[in-house]
Amino acid sequence: MNADFDRRFLMDWLTEEDPLRLADLWRMADTSRRENVGEDVHLRGLLEISNFCIRQCAYCGLRAPNMQLQRYRMTEEEIMECARKAWKLGCGTLVLQGGEDPGLTRKAVGAVVRRIKEETPLAVTLSLGERLFDDLAHWRRAGADRYFIRFETSDTELYRRIHPSLPSRSSARLAILEALKELGYETGSGIMIGIPGQHVHSLVEDLLLFRSLDLDMIGVGPYLPHPETPLGRTGAPSPQSFSDQVLNSETMVYKVMALSRLLCPEANIPVTTGLATLNREGGYEQGLQRGGNVIMPGITPLHFGRNYEIYPGKVRFLEITSAVEEIKKRIRSIGRTVGSGPGERQRHVQGTLPGRVSLE
Ligand code: SAM
Repeated sequence: MNADFDRRFLMDWLTEEDPLRLADLWRMADTSRRENVGEDVHLRGLLEISNFCIRQCAYCGLRAPNMQLQRYRMTEEEIMECARKAWKLGCGTLVLQGGEDPGLTRKAVGAVVRRIKEETPLAVTLSLGERLFDDLAHWRRAGADRYFIRFETSDTELYRRIHPSLPSRSSARLAILEALKELGYETGSGIMIGIPGQHVHSLVEDLLLFRSLDLDMIGVGPYLPHPETPLGRTGAPSPQSFSDQVLNSETMVYKVMALSRLLCPEANIPVTTGLATLNREGGYEQGLQRGGNVIMPGITPLHFGRNYEIYPGKVRFLEITSAVEEIKKRIRSIGRTVGSGPGERQRHVQGTLPGRVSLE
């Protein structure tokens, strides 16, 4: 493994614009996906259990100072009802996501995780932000299988700029990822693509970090400006900002997904809701053909979900049963199969990039 070669390889692909050449990248990623994780597409029901948040992330609609949101926190019974629904819909995993909400106490989350594990065959993924080691350990003992926390960007200066107040350091998130592994969680992380001020060379470092962290799950999505946030008020990133500003484009998301697949061949890689929001008609299909092997249908009841507005226009379903049936149809329409069971990470090979591909 040669770090300089890997950096050059990643940089070449991230800056490639010729669709004909990019077709080679999509092909390589799709082949790697097929060989390493097969044809199954796993469904993970995404349940947004609370929109309370103590953080002030400059990009996120859930940030504490946003007074436009009606805040909610689901009860154990409401969560259990959705868990049973996810199981009935054919999801193998339930993802419990929320703002960083101290009202989601160690005890309350532990109790609901224990019940889900006792009363359903679902795997449980938690995505509840930066929590204490003792919380994470308690939830693991209660039966939680996976934890997902994005490091957002490996550029420490950019990270600091978009996470004002509170002791919010990217190194804290990296330490949490290490702690999660120690606790035996399957561990997931990811980034936003197209944050104003994000350079292409920092995307290269993000991708290499995915590999060195040996992630089990990698979730990457476009940065989408939210008008009620300080960063959102500055608008979308533009090529005029500076020469290697990363754009929050659909193509850039596919490039990062495809390169993630090459670097981490066995990882579970979802087609994120952010990508499906950019392209409602074909985002799922194209994401699945460019490295992805997971879809996370949102199963939050609409009266809660409409207040979980991390960015505007997020894909939401009015009627969840028919929406999931439609997703299954779309999976089959591209010759893939709908996975059953928890769809945990399989371990067969180590991630190395394929041989140099001439871009000349
Ligand atoms: N509180 C948990 C955490 O911080 O990990 C989970 C919830 S948080 C809303 C989930 C993810 O939403 C973040 O990791 C971030 O990448 C993404 N997000 C927030 N605001 C966004 C925006 N404006 N555009 C795109 N993604 C956004």
